Amino acid sequence: MTDLTSFSAAELAGLVARGESSAVEVTQAHLDRISAVDDRVHAFLHVDTEGALDAARDVDSRRAAGEPLGPLAGVPVAVKDVLTTKGVPTTAGSKILADWRPPYDSTIVRRLRAAGTVMLGKTNMDEFAMGSSTEYSAFGPTHNPWDLSRIPGGSGGGSSAALAAYETPLSIGSDTGGSIRQPGAVTGTVGVKPTYGGTSRYGLIAFSSSLDTPGPCARTVLDAALLHEVIGGHDPLDSTSIPAPVPDVVAAARLGASGDLTGVRLGVVREFAGEGAEPGVLAAFRAAVETLTKLGAEVVEVSCPHFQYALPAYYLIAPSECSSNLARFDGVRFGLRVGDDGIRSLEEVMSATREAGFGPEVKRRVMLGTYALSSGYYDAYYGQAQKVRTLISRDFTTAFDQVDALISPTTPFVAFQVGARTADPYQMYLADLFTIPSNLYGGPGISVPCGLADGLPVGLQVMAPTMADDRMYRVAAALESAVGPFTPPAL
Ligand code: GLN
Repeated sequence: MTDLTSFSAAELAGLVARGESSAVEVTQAHLDRISAVDDRVHAFLHVDTEGALDAARDVDSRRAAGEPLGPLAGVPVAVKDVLTTKGVPTTAGSKILADWRPPYDSTIVRRLRAAGTVMLGKTNMDEFAMGSSTEYSAFGPTHNPWDLSRIPGGSGGGSSAALAAYETPLSIGSDTGGSIRQPGAVTGTVGVKPTYGGTSRYGLIAFSSSLDTPGPCARTVLDAALLHEVIGGHDPLDSTSIPAPVPDVVAAARLGASGDLTGVRLGVVREFAGEGAEPGVLAAFRAAVETLTKLGAEVVEVSCPHFQYALPAYYLIAPSECSSNLARFDGVRFGLRVGDDGIRSLEEVMSATREAGFGPEVKRRVMLGTYALSSGYYDAYYGQAQKVRTLISRDFTTAFDQVDALISPTTPFVAFQVGARTADPYQMYLADLFTIPSNLYGGPGISVPCGLADGLPVGLQVMAPTMADDRMYRVAAALESAVGPFTPPAL
């Protein structure tokens, strides 16, 4: 029998629904794969073997009793360790939360359970989702299954590497500046940042609340859409959640898979199509543009002049919000506490806890954000960045008057060697050059594999207007049907 880990989520759901495989068999196959490869990949921070098998048994007994099953019943999923899971360790990749077991499930995880998916465990990430390579995890880096000496992207490198290593068919990430799409691109998998407010932030450990967006990761566009449908939609527990149904992303993915893009107008972002990307990435992107044209899309160039200021604006807004959000890690309420010997003051305990509990990148962001928000500098830094954010949103709305969706390479470079960019924060920040604009605007973005450069995967990004997530699924599925598949070498 073909190894169950090679199937897509859609196929696995069918096997379980028809009784051709049990949920326990499917789950066990993935747990075995994790045991076989994860010592080399290190995609997981925690594998919940018992919880997963319990959930799988529950699906099998409900099926045996003839009860209705959820749409992804029996399909394994891995969850980025930034989403709370009741009773299951949730660290956000940080020592400060090393021993924390949340008392509640995030909305995303609650919906995953309700849909009958089987949560395998929690995936590795840069500490508090700050990074582009998963090297800033307090628990050691994740390795890219395409080449174990390279990074899997970040911050959600664990979620994408787990897909590329066939440890799970589905995973969840969170995207504040690119942390779903960029790891998707460099691991040859699909990563989706939904419209901001289209997926709930309840139980997502906050980094930058006006940008943070949880979303689906998968090996195929259809699988990402199926997962998106399960996790998306209004949540009264998140005050920024959009009170509207999820756009019909599954139908759009199926429509796109027919490979016909007649009548679709796509805009290549001029500012991102030239300088700034490696030659191999640009070549793969240009080939993909030709493919999209052959599929019937009309492709034009569109200028988004303020996109070049997105990176600096993001690195003021995100750290500012993070400096406020991370104030809750004070050694008092939860997580690590250092210096609690009864002699020191509260302030000393807080400072010793944060000194020991946070890694260098998190400290850098908190200091940067505190500075940008301080009186006397607020207008020049934070206030100015917010104005730039408005200009970037206007670039998007002007562009979407002319085209249905925008396209660009997802990231300027393919997976780099572990250690190559840790010494220079700016080099690390550049990984998100092309993904940050849609976070500042709030619209959706998807990364879909479009080719290889030097044997390593390259992603194409499709960006759509807010609440038009279905459009980008159609384009991505059409491209997917015409190129690839891109399969990493056997581990
Ligand atoms: N790499 C970006 C950063 O370090 C984006 C991270 C993210 O999307 N969570 O902030």
